[in-house]
Amino acid sequence: MTVEKNVERSQFDEVMVPCYNPMEMIPVKGEGARVWDQQGTEYIDFAGGIAVSCLGHCHPAMVNAVTEQANKIWHLSNVMTNEPALRLAKKLTEVSFAEKVFFANSGAEANEAALKLARRYAADEHGPEKSEIIAFKQGFHGRTFFTVTVGGQEAYSDGFGPKPGDVTHLPYNDVDALREHMSDRTCAIMMEPLQGEGGIIPPSDEFVQTVRELCDKYNALLIFDEVQTGNGRTGHFYAYQGLGVTPDILSTAKSLGGGFPIGAMLTTTELAKHLKIGTHGSTYGGNPLACAVAEAVVDVVSQPETLAGVVEREALFRDGLQKLNDKYQVFSEVRGKGLLLGAALNEEWQGRARDVLVVAGEQGLMVLVAGASVVRFTPSLVISKEEIEEGLSRLDKALAKLVG
Ligand SMILES: *Cc1c(COP(=O)(O)O)cnc(C)c1O
Repeated sequence: MTVEKNVERSQFDEVMVPCYNPMEMIPVKGEGARVWDQQGTEYIDFAGGIAVSCLGHCHPAMVNAVTEQANKIWHLSNVMTNEPALRLAKKLTEVSFAEKVFFANSGAEANEAALKLARRYAADEHGPEKSEIIAFKQGFHGRTFFTVTVGGQEAYSDGFGPKPGDVTHLPYNDVDALREHMSDRTCAIMMEPLQGEGGIIPPSDEFVQTVRELCDKYNALLIFDEVQTGNGRTGHFYAYQGLGVTPDILSTAKSLGGGFPIGAMLTTTELAKHLKIGTHGSTYGGNPLACAVAEAVVDVVSQPETLAGVVEREALFRDGLQKLNDKYQVFSEVRGKGLLLGAALNEEWQGRARDVLVVAGEQGLMVLVAGASVVRFTPSLVISKEEIEEGLSRLDKALAKLVG
């Protein structure tokens, strides 16, 4: 492997806005669940970006789709439509409750569209009073000003001046708080059907059912943010399909493009009609290249064998993490669903998730954190059994180092 001497990590500090603090290594190549850095050091990838690379790196289906489309046409404005966008939209309606699709370029943009649709629908159908958005503490919905305000971490939304109004945050999984608070003024509830960034927190059955029931009672819309949980991540194409509750609007991104930027908002015909001509839009939304890649991703991920494979791989992860915990006693529990798993650190290890990430990196393993005390795993949905074993053995070495 050639060493790219002219590009170094130190340049980040020179030329990049300092809102990130990337690790020292600079990956230059990926294949499946393996990645190599400039020095040729190999890593097993248990992160997949952040739940993005659902088919691993450079999957042939994605490489073919992007190459084929790259030789046809790259871009058209929304003054025209294009074949990949229409094919992808059709497929998304086939794998979900949705009848209509709006394309964006990221999760935040898909959520922005969802929130704007909910507000517009309520204003059209019920009047201007019905504008309250209810969301949940520790929730994450992106970084545009509306979505970050709806997200449940003030640390992310404070300090930017006046916020979009009428947003209420309640505790996740608190049925009584929701019952008490909700009213005819509620326009929509936005939630993740399994909180990702907030620490891999699954909802209780009672909670999701109550949310749906109260939305129906008060004519409020239910928005599921499936940016992280969607596209096979939990072993269902969308996580709602495993919860027995169907939202009115669903946002999807991350794994949808498998590494190519795309997001989408899915909804019903009845709701979609409120975004009339000119009410919303995006220059790159529905871009042919992005849609061609996403179509290839959806084709592979929606196969029953792929989804069943997620459940099998979850078992391997849970089993392996359990064995590591028997050896080192670092986790209080392993939670989540499918390949969206979080190993919560126990009392003694509170606040040390980033230490695990850094030391794992030194052992050739990429993992993520979800808050200060949860180690998160969101690997490729088609990672091989051998790669899972190899990654867990590197995690074993990392934990051995940390335990000292
Ligand atoms: C990552 C994430 C987002 C934001 O997606 P971007 O593509 O970064 O805008 C929104 N919601 C959830 C649940 C996410 O995990």
